[in-house]
Amino acid sequence: MDKKLKVGIIGATGMVGQNYLRLLENHPWFEVSYLAASPNSAGKKYAEAVAGRWHMHSAIPEKIKNMVVEDASQVEKAMGKCSLIFSAVEMEKAAILATEGEYAGKGFGVVSNNSAYRGAEDVPVVVPEINADHLGIIPAQQKKHGWDKGFLVVKPNCSIQSYMIPIYALLKAGYCIDKMIVTTLQALSGAGYPGPAAIDLVDNIIPFISGEEEKSESEPGKILGKVKNGRIVPDESIKISAHCNRVPVTDGHIACASLSFSGKKPDLDEVLHIWQNFSSIPQELKLPFAPIPAIVYREEINRPQPQKDRDAGNGMAVTVGRLRKCNVFDIRFVGLHHNTVRGAAGGSILTAELLKAKGYI
Ligand code: NAP
Repeated sequence: MDKKLKVGIIGATGMVGQNYLRLLENHPWFEVSYLAASPNSAGKKYAEAVAGRWHMHSAIPEKIKNMVVEDASQVEKAMGKCSLIFSAVEMEKAAILATEGEYAGKGFGVVSNNSAYRGAEDVPVVVPEINADHLGIIPAQQKKHGWDKGFLVVKPNCSIQSYMIPIYALLKAGYCIDKMIVTTLQALSGAGYPGPAAIDLVDNIIPFISGEEEKSESEPGKILGKVKNGRIVPDESIKISAHCNRVPVTDGHIACASLSFSGKKPDLDEVLHIWQNFSSIPQELKLPFAPIPAIVYREEINRPQPQKDRDAGNGMAVTVGRLRKCNVFDIRFVGLHHNTVRGAAGGSILTAELLKAKGYI
């Protein structure tokens, strides 16, 4: 691929938007050519728009500094500048539905981080290692909405990747799971900037994240579902109970999960073998952001830890540890992933690579 595909980022000034810019700086296939955010940032050069709130360790990419930020609602400003939009806007649900829908209607492929479209039966919620086949719904989606080239694809909630990829590896190996109890310990960056007030976080844990438990319980079924007659039919075989907590960690969501199997049950060695040998379509297609291995198992009794393990596979791998028998269900383990990379910008970039490799863009 010699000519890079031009991409735009709406919500480019926020926590996830900044991660896109950092991750796409030297991307072999994609080149950022359009930036948009709220009317407060519109008309400013990017460096001015994020003055005092650039949160990345690396500097603002040189090519981006002087790029003028547009108002994300003025969709026509993106016309001719790019063909794919990464959406990382934080707005009311109705406004997101309207804005992302308008971009798709005007011929852009849209890969969104937001939850607004996740419930739509014709919009795939993609984890490329799990349900790459769900992209097959795109022609039906386009037909239903009368969209010519545009389409909408979303990524799931940022809390679920650390256990859904290990769980999918077990399902793919032929084991059936019927119950899961999962407790997440979610990093501050997951709440965007500035997030919860410092006084609520120092020496503290907040045992509530609005809407998060509901998403953690419903999105896995859709991701594991099947495309049938132009809609995604969820697979409801796993009953899930989720507890989601906000903890004073900068990046990296942890999940402590207990699983119950129906039918044959794998022993711990078999589970480990499955995880250590797991590979899927992104790895087979050698997509630039595909982590190899996709699942990293840490033998140490006190891993995974956000600070030490979140950057595994450039932030794209899931790190798993503490696999042991469960006294109530069958097995338990701890999973970790980088929430703003695998759980947000990086996960969406991998989805976009999959879309490109499969010829949708
Ligand atoms: P954030 O830091 O608060 O950034 C929000 C972005 O939305 C900014 O670029 C902001 O622009 C823009 N925006 C706000 N109001 C707007 C409007 N009326 N029109 C156009 N743009 C507007 O939020 P974030 O953490 O990056 O999250 C962005 C999205 O990704 C959210 O939907 C969030 O749920 C989702 N997400 C976040 C994470 C994470 O780990 N943080 C993970 C997965 C998914 P201005 O700077 O101009 O105000």
